[in-house]
Amino acid sequence: MYTTNAWYRTHGYHPPFDTWFVLMWVTFLIMVTGYFGFSLKFIEEDRYYTKEFFIEDGGINNVHRQKSTWSFLGILFSSIIIFTCMKVSLTDTSDKRVMKESKERDMSYAMVKGIPVVVDGWCSICKSNVGSGTRHCKFCNKCIQGYDHHCRWLNCCVAESNYRTFILFVISTFIASTMSLWLAINAIGMYFNSESKYNYELILHNILPSSTLNTVFFGLFINILLILLSSIIMAFVGHLLFFHIRLCKYYKIYFIFMNYL
Ligand SMILES: [Zn+2]
Ligand SMILES: [Zn+2]
Repeated sequence: MYTTNAWYRTHGYHPPFDTWFVLMWVTFLIMVTGYFGFSLKFIEEDRYYTKEFFIEDGGINNVHRQKSTWSFLGILFSSIIIFTCMKVSLTDTSDKRVMKESKERDMSYAMVKGIPVVVDGWCSICKSNVGSGTRHCKFCNKCIQGYDHHCRWLNCCVAESNYRTFILFVISTFIASTMSLWLAINAIGMYFNSESKYNYELILHNILPSSTLNTVFFGLFINILLILLSSIIMAFVGHLLFFHIRLCKYYKIYFIFMNYL
């Protein structure tokens, strides 16, 4: 059956949306709510705890400064993540030469498995000549200039035009998840410290509705969930970052080696 179509994804916010893309935004909202609505509160309330002991040597001011620093860093990194994440998804990564020709894509070719799509500068789906480094993305159904990979979390391709922004997004996500993990550990640490346990429970009652069946249990559940989520994001993004840094190093070694030939 010979089928043609003109459909291609213009950017990451062009449907259909990948399940991972939706999951990414849901996770981001959970983390931001957890950071500002839960973990951060335990730093502010620390003030009551330190008041009696450190009032003379400026303990209150220190805690105030600590709280505003964490808020500032939280707002800063959330903004960087939103900005870079949207910029990566909205950047035009297509091969301009192919787009200029704008031919209908041959989908019958795409359905044949095991045959390379781009061979000798010719894309068999777009029916066009393509630049070197161009690959045809099956998710976006278009030719991508300087193709690196298709990111299902951002619902778009990562290529030469958005690679730097993508790395910035990965770095800021890694830092933000480390911060979330640190704050969540700080909060749960209060519960396991006999001196601050009372304050932990006091703060929990301020955050969660008093009608909650078992506030302390529910609070600990949220706390553990935030620790787990932050750790998973840190591990995942850290691995990705390590992989890309290693790749950059190999490229460098490769170019140095090529210069000697
Ligand atoms: Zn193509
Ligand atoms: Zn793609």
